[in-house]
Amino acid sequence: MARPPAQCPTCDTALVRSDSTPPHDIEITATTAALRERVAGGRMREVAGDVPLVDMLDLFAADMKYTVVSYLECSECDRLFYWGLCIRGAPIFEHVDDARLAAHRWDEVPDRTTWAGV
Ligand SMILES: [Zn+2]
Repeated sequence: MARPPAQCPTCDTALVRSDSTPPHDIEITATTAALRERVAGGRMREVAGDVPLVDMLDLFAADMKYTVVSYLECSECDRLFYWGLCIRGAPIFEHVDDARLAAHRWDEVPDRTTWAGV
């Protein structure tokens, strides 16, 4: 794999840190908002996910699914990355390769009417 750039101005800056102790130091609302802003602006693309990025926080807040995952691709550096919210763990924001996405085991998402806009 090619060596990633030290810091991509598009995707690396989407990660918003909080004051909490690592690895719990990621602001999920602000980070998700930053990602949505980049997708809306065409700087990133949603590749796959349990639900669209716009629905991630609602589903996560409903506490009905252990992890809520999105894979996004950065148009600036062409890297794929994983954004995952875990009910009982720290959120995960990391660059991954295509094999990781191909190997991802998607589990069932509860019916949207049971959690959206709750
Ligand atoms: Zn990037």
